[in-house]
Amino acid sequence: MTGPTDRVIVVGAGLGGLACALHLAAAGRQVTVVEREPVPGGRAGRLAVEGYEFDTGPTVLTMPDLIAEPLAAVGEKLSDWLELTPLDPAYRAYYPDGSTLDVRTDTTRMAAEIARVCGAREADGYLRFVDFTRRLWHLERDHFIGRNLDTPVDLLNLNLLRLLGMGAFRRLQPKIGEYFRDPRTQRIFSFQAMYAGLAPHDALAIYAVIAYLDSVAGVYFPKGGMHAVPKALAGAAEKHGVTFRYDTTVERVTTAHGRATGVVTADGEHIPADVVVLNPDLPVAYRDLLPPRRSLRRLRFSPSCVVLHIGSRQAYSRIAHHNIHFGTAWKGTFDEVIRRGLLMSDPSLLVTNPTHTDASAAPDGRQTYYVLAPTPNLEAGPIDWRGGMDQRYADELLRVLERRGYVGFRDGVEVQRIITPADWADAGMAAGTPFAAAHTFGQTGPFRPSNLHPSLPNVVFTGSGTQPGVGVPMVLISGKLAAARITEVS
Ligand SMILES: Cc1cc2nc3c(=O)[nH]c(=O)nc-3n(C[C@H](O)[C@H](O)[C@H](O)COP(=O)(O)OP(=O)(O)OC[C@H]3O[C@@H](n4cnc5c(N)ncnc54)[C@H](O)[C@@H]3O)c2cc1C
Repeated sequence: MTGPTDRVIVVGAGLGGLACALHLAAAGRQVTVVEREPVPGGRAGRLAVEGYEFDTGPTVLTMPDLIAEPLAAVGEKLSDWLELTPLDPAYRAYYPDGSTLDVRTDTTRMAAEIARVCGAREADGYLRFVDFTRRLWHLERDHFIGRNLDTPVDLLNLNLLRLLGMGAFRRLQPKIGEYFRDPRTQRIFSFQAMYAGLAPHDALAIYAVIAYLDSVAGVYFPKGGMHAVPKALAGAAEKHGVTFRYDTTVERVTTAHGRATGVVTADGEHIPADVVVLNPDLPVAYRDLLPPRRSLRRLRFSPSCVVLHIGSRQAYSRIAHHNIHFGTAWKGTFDEVIRRGLLMSDPSLLVTNPTHTDASAAPDGRQTYYVLAPTPNLEAGPIDWRGGMDQRYADELLRVLERRGYVGFRDGVEVQRIITPADWADAGMAAGTPFAAAHTFGQTGPFRPSNLHPSLPNVVFTGSGTQPGVGVPMVLISGKLAAARITEVS
């Protein structure tokens, strides 16, 4: 970046914005974070209802080292800010034939679990898969995910050849088939493609790294819930001199002579800056906050989701913290949600039970449940979620869960909140999805929207809409990459 970079405004205290602010503070910049909500976290928010506390966004926390990194940049230790419990099992998977499989981080125990459920040959395939994904992660991490990539030429290095040799640019589904024969293991190690916004038969095999991150590297739960993560990052940033302006909405970025000069808030205040970092959803930042541009790139967005937050009298001793309930349908489910814009006719659902690990999230003797159902985004399936559709779908999901073993689920409900794609759209997320642009080949790496503005040299993006991509680990990296754009002055 050319020109002065002393005073930086970061718009948005999402995890991307917070990581960026910490790296900038560490590099001696004077940083002001302007956030429209009263608290940090963005999608990693918190909802309090009648004594129940719900995490509103991410629940599966992987790679805590990536939280430690921005903290370490300012000399802080993760353990002083967050108490993390490794979840064991990381997930419990439930299949339509009535069998269950516990996903354990410890590979020896996991191999034993797979041998128990699917037989010894499948366990052997699992151990080979772990080797494959571990190599994948190490090759991808530094050279492709953790670097600013400006052109495809930046990809050309020895590791690219190694990845090609490993078949990482073939499709995920057939790659999974090289290691697993049983449809149950195939599902538990490939459903993560959905996190990247794709079906396993469409995603590239490079996305097997997501399975590595949660199934092998481990899943954690922070004391106080996922919202404790942004609170910790914001607390450390404040301690190290970052100024936070909460309850302050940015209306637009101001410009003069081809550079950003600051931002104007909804109250009409102009806050001057040398550099502006934008953490709101990238297409929405272009649309609402930046000077109009003639040709905006059309993006293909990830599917969206409905989340049901339930405070309940019912407890289920046989469930784990994270539970994945697979329907009988598989490829057809992805086709419905992604291609045909339909709700799942035979849903696969994530049910998280945070009070399983942290009873303080509910009144005494009560439970919290977080039910996530993938749905089409509003471009793929323009479903009218208002006018009763939200409640009808929630009722349908509760009935499905009762059929899948959550006996008396509806009777136990004390508190219920339903979040639909219409709510994600209202919160400023393009196409009504909280999962940003899908990770198709053309929207991955240097082909994903850049973290640099094409004509304003001092505007930088962070968050899931830019590189490297979606999810807590990726947006934390995006914050570091955005900061590097500013501190590595040319
Ligand atoms: C339901 C759900 C489940 C998920 N599950 C997982 C999971 O299990 N594991 C995982 O790793 N990831 C998960 N994710 C994805 C992950 O949460 C996101 O990728 C990540 O939190 C996005 O962070 P961000 O920094 O890009 O943006 P955001 O969190 O959206 O932050 C942007 C911030 O900008 C603020 N803002 C917007 N406009 C303005 C404005 N005009 N002025 C001022 N401030 C503004 C917003 O209020 C917000 O705080 C999930 C997300 C959701 C919603």
